[in-house]
Amino acid sequence: MFSQSDSEFDRQHIWHPYTSMTDPLPCYPVVAAQGVHLQLADGGELVDGMSSWWAAIHGYNHPRLNQAMQQQMTQMAHVMFGGITHPAAVALCRKLVALTPASLECVFLADSGSVSVEVAMKMALQYWLGRGEVRQQFLTLKRGYHGDTFAAMSVCDPDNSMHSLWRGYLPEHHFAAAPQCAFDDEWNERDIDDFARHMEQRHHQLAAVILEPIVQGAGGMRFYHPRYLQQVRDLCDRYGVLLIADEIATGFGRTGKLFACEHAAIEPDILCVGKALTGGTLTLAATLTTREVAETISRSPAGCFMHGPTFMGNPLACAVAVESLTLLEEGHWKTQVAAIERQLRDELLPLQASPQVADIRVLGAIGVVETHKPVNMAALQQFFVAHGVWIRPFGRLIYLMPPYIIEPEALTKLTRTIGAALEHPSHFVS
Ligand code: PMP
Repeated sequence: MFSQSDSEFDRQHIWHPYTSMTDPLPCYPVVAAQGVHLQLADGGELVDGMSSWWAAIHGYNHPRLNQAMQQQMTQMAHVMFGGITHPAAVALCRKLVALTPASLECVFLADSGSVSVEVAMKMALQYWLGRGEVRQQFLTLKRGYHGDTFAAMSVCDPDNSMHSLWRGYLPEHHFAAAPQCAFDDEWNERDIDDFARHMEQRHHQLAAVILEPIVQGAGGMRFYHPRYLQQVRDLCDRYGVLLIADEIATGFGRTGKLFACEHAAIEPDILCVGKALTGGTLTLAATLTTREVAETISRSPAGCFMHGPTFMGNPLACAVAVESLTLLEEGHWKTQVAAIERQLRDELLPLQASPQVADIRVLGAIGVVETHKPVNMAALQQFFVAHGVWIRPFGRLIYLMPPYIIEPEALTKLTRTIGAALEHPSHFVS
């Protein structure tokens, strides 16, 4: 089903995420996926610890998600959204408006997380145009990540996303120090000082603050204190600056709350969701905002919101998203995520004793082992695959975010294999 020549073609001609064309890391052919298992072309089976980058929360090949796609396919796979609407988009947006914070009433359907961030930033810019003010700067946090398109990249951590590479091309925004006070720490008022100073100094130029609530993901898998987020909200209110919450990774239950903003009991002015929106089946994201922001945008000189991608509101993606949200509404995710959190704490925290380990942290269905030395990605990945698990480490981070349906035995297999991997110095770069 997957020949040596397919592998060779892949290596010669196909880019994978963040890989070199001249010296790519090995890729493992997967030919099927079921529940929490990925099936390799050579017949091997891997327990999935990644949910395909936060997305496949209900597991793979889910009968109800498949059924939703099949049903929609008999009607239409796609139709343009300009001047046309359809039942799947309306059903999805109804659910999004109902599930997200009450003030968020207006939905823009985007094709990917990065695009939903572009849309959110453009909404903020047009909002200020609608108010007759030019505000073109954003304030964000160091260690943040918001996507790989250019506007999104401009608000990613400048070091992680190599802003030096794009100097002169990337718009320059403002970065407050990353929060230091961890989720479970005692709150330290000093933590917000740098952010507050930025707000005080430049609020007149700021279109919006953009951040990942509670969990800084790709920029370091850091869990920060809910009081930080509350204070950000307060400062945005005090200075009249919009708050964009990027819940693309955290949304739909991953942190133990349906949305991470709930840990701080705050509502953003603009919210981005993606990844798990379709249960990890098709690419779709959404940007939601308040009626006030939407109406002000409509008063801007353009008279409308200036965005409209070809595949906006793709019916197939909307239909499967409706079913994924229906599965969430049935409510099992809460007990599943709480059980995963308990088990991750029980099984990962003891690894703190390993000399390789700098920190272990767990929040909801996310478990992170931070090591002192960077991982030797190729060696560690090979070890994981040889031991029947799919875990994709990066930098000094080995982390788990399994599908919510994972059974305790399969989760133990993931945590045990991490424990075993820590015992091999060759898995780390000296
Ligand atoms: N924001 C956050 C917080 C993310 O984690 C990601 C994806 N890793 C994105 C935005 C970009 O989403 P996408 O990869 O779908 O463009």
